Formats: sequence, structure tokens, C-alpha cells
Amino acid sequence: MAVLKLTTFPDKILKVKTREVLRVTEEERRLAKDMIETMYAERGVGLAANQVGVSKQLFVASADQVRGKEMVFLNPRIIRKQGTVKEFEGCLSVPECYEPVKRSKRVWMRAMTLEGKEVEVKADGLLARIFQHEIDHLNGFLFIDRLGLIKSRLTRRALLKRAARPRA
Ligand code: ZN
Repeated sequence: MAVLKLTTFPDKILKVKTREVLRVTEEERRLAKDMIETMYAERGVGLAANQVGVSKQLFVASADQVRGKEMVFLNPRIIRKQGTVKEFEGCLSVPECYEPVKRSKRVWMRAMTLEGKEVEVKADGLLARIFQHEIDHLNGFLFIDRLGLIKSRLTRRALLKRAARPRA
């Protein structure tokens, strides 16, 4: 297992819709393991494949941070949602940026497991937020795209300015 390097804003791979996984192979299994390792190393609660430079529809999640209980989903899509809730959100690909984001309170997601099985999962609270955040990643969106037009533009501009600053 290995901790992978994170891609961060404004890396272009984060803006591209990821590819569907037609068949789970050893490659996806290894990627998922490494992504879980990376998620824990970075103290995240979720991670999408394009955040480690792989443009595939795969994400890992661990709402309670319990080792061995993390979830891995491929080709996920939200099939039903209920309610709205606005809470602060952050992202491993957008360091040191936290903003309130409006999300559905409860979602039903259909996805494939690492065993190649189709499943339907219902999620509430933090897990529902993680699912929506990671599916956004896989579709080429960041949480800063969900802040409303003006706030979104200002946040991007500030982040770009920060990214351009020389680092020693
Ligand atoms: Zn993220």
C-alpha cells in the first residue's frame, strides 16, 4: 500500500468528468487500497480517484474514520434526494478553504462495489454530504463551484492568487 500524491486546484484533471469502470480488475483494487491509505494519511473523510490523478469513477469514504470500515464505490449516481442542509465543507484538493455548501440532507445512491456488484445505498448526515461531494469530483466539480456565482468567482480568484505565490 502507498500514500498517493494529491492533485490540487487548479489542476485540470479535477475539471474533467472521469471515465466509467466497466470491469473491476486488480488495478482498481490496488487503487482503492492506496486511496484509503491516502485518505487516512491526509485525515480526509472521502477521496475521489481524480484527486490522486486517476480519471476513473471510483471514490472511497469513511465518515467515522474507523479502519476496516471504509466504503469503496464505482460508477456512483444519486437516484433520489430529500431535503436540504447548509454546512461548512472542505476538500483535500482545495487546502485551507472552508465554506458553507448547500447539499441534500438525505440521498439514495446506486453504484458498483469492488466485487462488481450493483448496490443501492441510503445515506444521511455527513455520509450523504460525502457522497455528493465525491460524485461532484467524479463529474469534474469542486465544492467551490457550489457557492453561488459571485462567491464562487471570488473564492477561485483568491485561491489562484495563493497558488501563484512563490514557495520556498
Ligand atoms: Zn474534495
